Amino acid sequence: MKVTVWNEFIQEKTDPPVAAVYPEGIHTVISEFLKSDGFDVDTAVLEEKDHGLSEQILEQTDVLIWWGHKAHGDVDEKIVDKIQSRILNGMGLIVLHSAHFSKIFKRMMGTTCALGSWREDGKRERVWVIDPTHPISNGIDKYFDIPKTEMYGERFDVPAPDELVFISSFEEGEVFRSGCCYKRGLGKIFYFRPGHETYPIFFQPEVQQVIKNAIKWVAL
Ligand code: ZN
Repeated sequence: MKVTVWNEFIQEKTDPPVAAVYPEGIHTVISEFLKSDGFDVDTAVLEEKDHGLSEQILEQTDVLIWWGHKAHGDVDEKIVDKIQSRILNGMGLIVLHSAHFSKIFKRMMGTTCALGSWREDGKRERVWVIDPTHPISNGIDKYFDIPKTEMYGERFDVPAPDELVFISSFEEGEVFRSGCCYKRGLGKIFYFRPGHETYPIFFQPEVQQVIKNAIKWVAL
């Protein structure tokens, strides 16, 4: 199984607080923890030709992981068309955090994918497992906490998920559907909310576990 981790890879080079947490880029941290667990992983970034997603690479990719924030608009529609086609033909897609506004996620959802609210306050998020039978919650207890995060609040403008695995609650009272599963054509999509760029969230074992579980689920 081949996993491709895509990152726009901009803020890690331009924004010192982000560079302090992810000096080699978010994609590198994700690919390293996956490789250490035996996954076959490559990375791709926005500035590469075809954003690193040539027809051949997409053809060989079983699961595409997507992180973006500042440059969703710079992703070429023709590449989005090709990703969509691969998903409809069976490729899995994992969409992380601020990639809720990526072209490919909006395309696959058909809605605005806008947040009801958001606030960068560095407060705690509690990620509740609401489907303990789901393979994506495998190895996760009733909940896990992310000590410092950026809050996202409902209503999240997405279609009702085919399967809902996690709901997050935040210290100020907001809630968010933070682990949403969709089936589109022959492909599966998982949206996972955690992953703000100024906190070391992708180093957290529970977050890594969920991403590994999600790879296995979207690949099938
Ligand atoms: Zn964020």
